Amino acid sequence: MLPGGVRPLADLPVEGRRVFVRVDFNVPMKQGRITDDARIVAALPTIQELLRRGAKTILASHLGRPDGKPDPAFSLEPVAARLAELTGQDVTLADEPVGDGARRVASDVRDGELGMLENMRFDPREEANDPVFAKELSTYCDVYVNDAFGAAHRAHASTAGIAAHVIDKGAGLLMAKEIDVLSRLLDQVAKPYVAVVGGAKVSDKVDVLDALLFRVSHLIVGGAMANTFLAAQGRNMGKSKIEADKLAAARLILKRASERGVTVLLPDDVIAASSLDAPAGSVVDVADMPADLMALDIGPRTLLRYQAVLKDARAVFWNGPMGVFEKAPFAAGTMGIAHAMAENTNALTVVGGGDSAAAAAVAGVTEKVTHVSTGGGASLEFVQGLRLPGIVALAT
Ligand code: ADP
Ligand code: MG
Repeated sequence: MLPGGVRPLADLPVEGRRVFVRVDFNVPMKQGRITDDARIVAALPTIQELLRRGAKTILASHLGRPDGKPDPAFSLEPVAARLAELTGQDVTLADEPVGDGARRVASDVRDGELGMLENMRFDPREEANDPVFAKELSTYCDVYVNDAFGAAHRAHASTAGIAAHVIDKGAGLLMAKEIDVLSRLLDQVAKPYVAVVGGAKVSDKVDVLDALLFRVSHLIVGGAMANTFLAAQGRNMGKSKIEADKLAAARLILKRASERGVTVLLPDDVIAASSLDAPAGSVVDVADMPADLMALDIGPRTLLRYQAVLKDARAVFWNGPMGVFEKAPFAAGTMGIAHAMAENTNALTVVGGGDSAAAAAVAGVTEKVTHVSTGGGASLEFVQGLRLPGIVALAT
């Protein structure tokens, strides 16, 4: 049994039975072509185990934002074709998420075969978690498996509602790994537990920061988020990106951190430039930031301080780049954090967030850290100790 009373795939009676698998096939597309099939590849272990065990597998996913109506631009057709290539098996795609066509695909699939329903979000009842829609989906199967961790923080019909109508249910292999690793960052977490947060905005993550203060020993801050914290401490940050309406929130977080004995680390030097397109930046002390420059990465002195803390950590959760890592002159801070995490093999090291996962891949540490989460919003909710509807629904 997984934490939270969730059954793993190995314990589910799938042999010869109809298994509805909610996957996250929300892949990036350009002009009808898949530009990155990583999410399909990530679901393969679960799908292959089901094929091997002779299940009648019915796959369901959302793709993009078709706003509750059928739209060929968001059809799962290219995904079904790619999955067929990857598995070497036919994938029969229904022309709708529910209804006669969907029911036919679900009832025609045989042992060891794959069927797929059309984009769940072609029906507005998916995101509304409509009970009639959820019930109809449940009639297509004997067993419900959720492997879509990236959608587990949403209570939708195919990620949560359906589970109320199915007795045999549990987590796919991808979901199980997420639950297993992320749970180790909760109450039993090894200390020192260091959270590294950065990225574009404080406003996205105020709640996360606040919740993490109950759990972490150190809070390392970088990215544009750090600018707002420094401004809140009275620093003049020049032309840097700052959220003027979040200064009070940042001050409150700093106050709570000191009350709770959490060490907050902020940059004391940064890489600054006159614009995002500048070919290079210069190292500047935050104490004398020029009025015409903006902070676009943490500086080398700051990176060394941050790396020293990461070296002694026993658990690390990282969300949000330290700078504009997409541009070479401003990538060093983010890359340095990624490498420090990979080098600390004594610690549980977890990366969450879409851009952070991309940065980890650029740094070449995806296989060297303990885990790169497949869920951005979902991983942030999990590490706060929140109950995710898609996981709660699986509990038996
Ligand atoms: P994640 O997707 O991992 O949760 P975010 O979406 O919060 O991360 O933030 C990522 C973005 O933040 C990146 O596109 C990066 O360029 C931007 N960013 C980081 N630091 C700065 C900065 N100092 N100024 C402007 N943008 C920044
Ligand atoms: Mg992002």
